[in-house]
Amino acid sequence: MKSKILLIGIDGLNLDTALENAPVLAALKEKGFFTTITIEPPTWSGPSWSTLLTGSTHEQHGVTDNSFTGHKLLHRPDLLSLAFYQDQNTTTFAAAGWPPLVDPIGHGPVIHERREQAKALRHRVLVRDGETYGYTQVDAEIAAAANYAISNHGPDVSFIYFCGVDEAGHAFGSIGEHYKGAIARIDAYLDTLLQAVHARASADEPWLVVVTTDHGHIDEGGHGGDSARERASFVVAHGVGRENPQWPQEFEPHQLVSLLLAERA
Ligand SMILES: [Zn+2]
Repeated sequence: MKSKILLIGIDGLNLDTALENAPVLAALKEKGFFTTITIEPPTWSGPSWSTLLTGSTHEQHGVTDNSFTGHKLLHRPDLLSLAFYQDQNTTTFAAAGWPPLVDPIGHGPVIHERREQAKALRHRVLVRDGETYGYTQVDAEIAAAANYAISNHGPDVSFIYFCGVDEAGHAFGSIGEHYKGAIARIDAYLDTLLQAVHARASADEPWLVVVTTDHGHIDEGGHGGDSARERASFVVAHGVGRENPQWPQEFEPHQLVSLLLAERA
């Protein structure tokens, strides 16, 4: 049976800090499949999310920084598009407040627009601009829209993205109360989304909930370099209405997409 996949991206999350301030994520890690992954530098959001979402190396997608100059994303379809190409009955949903991920106006988007499927209501995308309006507000809108979509549409493959933790890291560093507070806020959204999944999931509608991040933050706030802290990421994957996935304990960030697509086979 094909699983519905909910991939949740939390930008700039230091896992050790998260485990002390995010009880929902910590519990999900204990119940689910867990492994650490190591991000290829430079540890910018653009190349990292392009890799995690398209299953491509930096060389393949051509995204070297957050300007997206010279990107080859039109040749590197994202997880949602690939799932649709694999089975054209697939419904997809993406919600993000960092415009390059989803906004057709601008640098990307990493998640392809697929206008025909959007018109047919088989591909829904919520675009917000946290860079302009702030992620505290925008993440709340993302969470509410994702909760609605999961509850009412039950999309087959979703990507939900939160950036408030990264925003706090840049503004205040990654060891203080602002960063921890942002983690707790996103953890509450994770709880809401998990409740929406649990309300639907069954042996007839199995779900796989996956959480990851694109890079860490140094103590002072910031990333882009090749330190272990900046390169540290992880994958948590928890089955609801099904078993946890049998994934290898070691894989590269660009291999996540193929692992996810195999759960749709
Ligand atoms: Zn980032």
